[in-house]
Amino acid sequence: MDRPLKNTWGIILAAGSGTRLAEASGGVRKQYLKYRGVPLFWHSARTFSRVSGVKGLVFVFPPEDAKAMAKQVRQFFRSEDLGVKWAVCEGGERRQDSVFNGLRELPTKCDGVLVHDSARPFVSARIINGLVDALNAGAQGVIPVIPVTDTIKKVEGDTVSATLTRSELRAVQTPQGFEKDLLVQAHERAEQEGWDVTDDASMVERLAEVATIPGEQANIKITTPEDLARLEEAKVTVPCVGWGYDVHRFGGENDRPLVLGGVPVPGSLTIVAHSDGDVLLHALTDAVLGTFGGGDIGTHFPDTDPKFSGANSSLLLKETLALAEEAGVRIVHADLTVITQIPKLSPHAAQITKNVCRLLGLDAHQVNFKATTEEKLGFTGEKKGIKAVATVTALREM
Ligand code: MG
Repeated sequence: MDRPLKNTWGIILAAGSGTRLAEASGGVRKQYLKYRGVPLFWHSARTFSRVSGVKGLVFVFPPEDAKAMAKQVRQFFRSEDLGVKWAVCEGGERRQDSVFNGLRELPTKCDGVLVHDSARPFVSARIINGLVDALNAGAQGVIPVIPVTDTIKKVEGDTVSATLTRSELRAVQTPQGFEKDLLVQAHERAEQEGWDVTDDASMVERLAEVATIPGEQANIKITTPEDLARLEEAKVTVPCVGWGYDVHRFGGENDRPLVLGGVPVPGSLTIVAHSDGDVLLHALTDAVLGTFGGGDIGTHFPDTDPKFSGANSSLLLKETLALAEEAGVRIVHADLTVITQIPKLSPHAAQITKNVCRLLGLDAHQVNFKATTEEKLGFTGEKKGIKAVATVTALREM
């Protein structure tokens, strides 16, 4: 019989005082430090929310900040709905007290929990998935670990008292996953018997077996001012490619005159369209949207909206480019093809290229325009309509 999947929540700890780092960063506690425009704890929240097994999140903040932070978290969810339930609570004196407070916020139907330090903003969905899978497979406790590369020695005073066997050692990361009831029980025992620990596994391993999964070097903990510099270095530029495709039917004398790439193409050909029917700019706009996961042109500029009747597609593209900029992508290249039997486009190619360069703010070597026929085959061959495809390359800093 298949085991029922666990109802797993994450507890994101942002309750530390982080004095060392706060001093170095001008008084900002590390959990509130911003990286790419949002605080560290929100980066973890995003990653947790991408794992389908995670049903909700509890954020734990210092008691004096909890009220204000609850407001801020609500605003974050308003502008970026992560699709999970959430709660905010006050932390305690020690890390373990904060976890215990977080556990009390979990709903009764929750039976799996992942405890995470917000100081590890680069935790991957792969790690979280691995923990959720292990809990679903029956593990009572599971933690991500990485091999230790330094030789570790025990020191008493200034003197080495022992050298530990490196191959037996692992460095432990968060999140750490547990059966909820077991973790609650461990915290109750810790309180009764005065255990003082630095992570949750240290409690649970006294009561049950704790399994391991591979952690990741990239899942670093931000603890010192040097780590701050590393946050900045962590930025990498990643190319993103968007692809667009559009078709328009040729029309009668009351339809729109043919425009391609914002350039009127003289002649009697007309286009059936709600907007100005610029098939090339429509494909290009969809390709731009594709570079940042922006959906499609129909969603942004519906052809049922009278506002866009006869709309100048150059303006629709301009609005879309503003969205791309907001999303942090920079368009660096466009390759465009119009497929049609008529009219012959080579006389207009230079002007179309030039105008698309202007619209995208790119140089001539960054925009390529070409036209082709389909050898009299299909609807373009039968001169019933025209189509265009566009591939756009953009760079995104991550
Ligand atoms: Mg169209």
